[in-house]
Amino acid sequence: MPTQAPPDHAFEMSPVVAGLWRIADWELDVPARVRWIEQALELGITSFDHADIYGDYRAESLFGEALQHAPALRRRMQLVTKCGIRLRSAQRPYRLNHYDASADYVRAQVEQSLRNLRTEQLDLVLIHRPDYLMDATVLADTFASLTREGKVARWGVSNHTTGQFALLHAHHPLVTNQLELSPLHMQALDDGTLDQAQQLGLRPMIWSPLGGGRLFAGDDPQALRVRGEMEAIAARLGISLTTLAFAWILRHPSRPHPITGSGRIERLREAVAALDVTLEAEDWYAIWTASKGHPVP
Ligand code: NAP
Repeated sequence: MPTQAPPDHAFEMSPVVAGLWRIADWELDVPARVRWIEQALELGITSFDHADIYGDYRAESLFGEALQHAPALRRRMQLVTKCGIRLRSAQRPYRLNHYDASADYVRAQVEQSLRNLRTEQLDLVLIHRPDYLMDATVLADTFASLTREGKVARWGVSNHTTGQFALLHAHHPLVTNQLELSPLHMQALDDGTLDQAQQLGLRPMIWSPLGGGRLFAGDDPQALRVRGEMEAIAARLGISLTTLAFAWILRHPSRPHPITGSGRIERLREAVAALDVTLEAEDWYAIWTASKGHPVP
């Protein structure tokens, strides 16, 4: 039996979202996966970010098994997933990795995600990367028919430029652009994507808020500068480096939803703790300065 999504009026992404990209590496059995989801929910993290390709196309099913085991959890959460990347793998022997936002592929992947996640509806589906061959009219028709069929409640994109976002948004309403932003990766501050999100009042989702772990483990000059600066600020504020990184993202006026990447509940707790921290502009800019390696012009 597919699990039931929450009623539509209940859709609001939690301020911090949990990402499942790495779930296959966590090596949790089904009861441990259920417990992990329950603990995330207890922290107020009710939105879970997936993609069809995560874990070599297996991540959604690992989560879906847990939902099958504890179906009542489904009504307490929002499921976000993505499609549109054809990633080479043993079961998918494509000649090369490429993007595909065609009607047939999006429909097939959405239907596969519904089966994997053992649910009757996906709360939000994102086109993972911009497909240069995407026909906006055709894709919007596919969005509309999958919505009419009750399979997907709402749509968005990820890693799309402002122009790519505007094109699709003109054909079908989008609710978010999921972007990379961290103290180590600041392109979204300058490329217009966050300005567009603010202008449209559509809160962005933020991936790799800790630079995929480079904030802690990186030994390149930028990582060393940023870690040094952030450790000093975190010590002064009495918070952890993780909390400071999330607070740095949450300080942006586009009201972003950062996505955690860790399988450790303690690290999710540190991320949520950032909701109680408001960084001074000077601290925010000190991290910007350390990242760029030069003062503001
Ligand atoms: P991240 O938070 O930047 O990185 C998570 C990694 O950092 C994990 O390997 C984690 O290891 C490590 N880490 C965390 N705290 C640490 C510490 N104190 N010391 C050492 N290592 C530490 O997030 P991410 O996983 O790269 O991305 C988050 C989510 O964003 C993904 O799950 C996915 O949902 C989404 N995403 C989307 C896109 C896209 O194109 N739309 C791309 C990438 C990711 P532990 O597990 O050991 O804590």
